[in-house]
Amino acid sequence: MPSIAQGPASDTAPYRGPFPLPVTPLQHRFSFASNCSYIDWYTSNGGVHHPIGKISTRKHVAVVGAGVGGLFTAQLLRGAGCDVTVLERAAHVGGRARSDPTHNEGGWVEQGAMRFPVHALSAAIVKAHGFELLGGFPDPGVVRTGLSFEGEYAEWEPHAPPPGIFEDIDAAWTAFIREGLSREGERVLAPIADIIDGLAAKKKEVINAAAAKYRAYVDVFQSQSLEQGTRSIFSGKQYDRVGPVVWSEAHFEADKALGRGSGGLGAVSQRSMVAILELIINQMLVNQASFGVKAEDGTSKHAPVQALPARMAARLIKAGGKVRCGQRVTSLGLAPVDGVQKVLLNVKGAGREVYDDVVLAIPPNAAKTVLARSSGKLMSRRDLLDLNSLDTMNAVKLYVELEHKHYMDQPGFPRVLLSDTPANQSYLFEDAGGRGGSGVVTNLIAYQWGQAAGELAEQYEDKIALRDYIAGQMRANLCAGGGKWHEWIDDILAAPSERIHYINWDKDPSARGAFVLMLPGQEKVFARISRRYLRLSEEEMHVHLVGDSYTRLGGWIEAAFVSASDFASAYVRAHGELFNARLSPVVCNAQ
Ligand SMILES: Cc1cc2nc3c(=O)[nH]c(=O)nc-3n(C[C@H](O)[C@H](O)[C@H](O)COP(=O)(O)OP(=O)(O)OC[C@H]3O[C@@H](n4cnc5c(N)ncnc54)[C@H](O)[C@@H]3O)c2cc1C
Repeated sequence: MPSIAQGPASDTAPYRGPFPLPVTPLQHRFSFASNCSYIDWYTSNGGVHHPIGKISTRKHVAVVGAGVGGLFTAQLLRGAGCDVTVLERAAHVGGRARSDPTHNEGGWVEQGAMRFPVHALSAAIVKAHGFELLGGFPDPGVVRTGLSFEGEYAEWEPHAPPPGIFEDIDAAWTAFIREGLSREGERVLAPIADIIDGLAAKKKEVINAAAAKYRAYVDVFQSQSLEQGTRSIFSGKQYDRVGPVVWSEAHFEADKALGRGSGGLGAVSQRSMVAILELIINQMLVNQASFGVKAEDGTSKHAPVQALPARMAARLIKAGGKVRCGQRVTSLGLAPVDGVQKVLLNVKGAGREVYDDVVLAIPPNAAKTVLARSSGKLMSRRDLLDLNSLDTMNAVKLYVELEHKHYMDQPGFPRVLLSDTPANQSYLFEDAGGRGGSGVVTNLIAYQWGQAAGELAEQYEDKIALRDYIAGQMRANLCAGGGKWHEWIDDILAAPSERIHYINWDKDPSARGAFVLMLPGQEKVFARISRRYLRLSEEEMHVHLVGDSYTRLGGWIEAAFVSASDFASAYVRAHGELFNARLSPVVCNAQ
């Protein structure tokens, strides 16, 4: 294997970040395209400022869960004339958009979502709420990154290809996206870049042709894991060589270790290949941005992501909706009231409430708990089986607040990747340290997903023990070639307990896990779940599921908004009229 210590070649074309795409990424479209994108749908329906439609009979809807998905659902329904009550078990809104305060006043750590794709529905919603997205999330290829892999250390310069073997890997993925797949010189799957371009076109025929090309990918890869899919694409056995070399075992291992954007695809290598294609097609992995706000002096600065759900809740209340925190919904039931079927909802400590309909805008594990304690036929057997088949992944994050001094004289070292260690990756967030340049930075020293997260959490339940372990990994992996990192690691080890922030999402009582990512072969399950709302017009259904986990883009705020849009548009259509006669894309597409 070539040494990654060789560093990047000096004479290379500008690097465009992970999964560089030679397309104009203008609009977000869900994979099975329709005649409108979500952004079109949102803006043509008036965004947050105008209702999407009007219901014709009075409805009181309970939205369980004040994450971004629940709050967006509630905003859309309230706008259409529903009475809306949001019930949230935690003391605050936000769910997995959670920014915990640090010891340093005014600072925060992002325990959940921290990066946004820029060309997406979420960008429009962020803007509509008075926030903005700040480009250049500190990813490898975007900021200077220290990279350790198999005992070797290299630095990855911004806007340059990655060092060593990773350059081959990057070139191969780029070739796959730009050129598609061929067999004996004959193209068998179209370039993904063309599909993305086609989906962003104006003409319906072009969009449909692109969607058909994407379906061909789904047909080929739907029962494969990411690992199997990667092997079939890059091993040179099933398709012509993609990129500069046929991959060796070392390439496959390195690919799993580095991942794209977040480091460590190994954690998701057993998940569905289609789920990853879905992320690529929807451009979730390129041009990522941090969350921010414009300051009074006109400059942009970072802001805690949780400010978004907080403002969404404030707007909802202003529009006449209710948001009640500290209210855990324990179970549901059905009962006729004056001859009309209603949903009975039990709130811990507050008793029973009656609603026309209930939206469970809570993650699958929380929904399973509520439904297991409920009575009556709230969902069909098929719906319950589908819900039960959703498999939640864990994630852990460990932050340390540090003095700024070491970074001041080493600008451009906000990130290291320990690619084949459980520590995995580290980011430095200079702006989240606190008010007025207080000299403190927040450093995410470990972020791990899936089984590896579970193992870390199990082995090091105490945050100090975990911190010490991670620091040991850093010392072993980063310091072999010189002393540059010693002082930084000493600081990490010296941080007092109150400056260390740890989250294990499996232990969070509201979420019990981080996010759902489709398993191989679950394509149909997700198609059914994400289009369940379509049956609203024909069937009597009173309990609904909303959230990122019920889409094929699980793990993204974008997906929570998409799910809310699908549900709300179908609900308003079923009980009244949609202005513009436009359903959100998944819904209108399936007709
Ligand atoms: C570690 C991590 C990193 C992530 N990184 C990113 C990222 O970088 N970018 C990105 O876009 N997305 C990211 N995500 C995903 C993103 O956070 C979610 O997609 C999004 O926040 C989900 O919103 P939601 O409203 O669907 O669900 P949630 O945010 O989970 O909201 C559900 C709400 O329901 C409440 N609740 C649960 N049970 C009950 C009950 N019985 N009664 C009342 N209330 C209840 C919960 O307290 C919670 O507030 C990340 C998630 C995690 C965990």
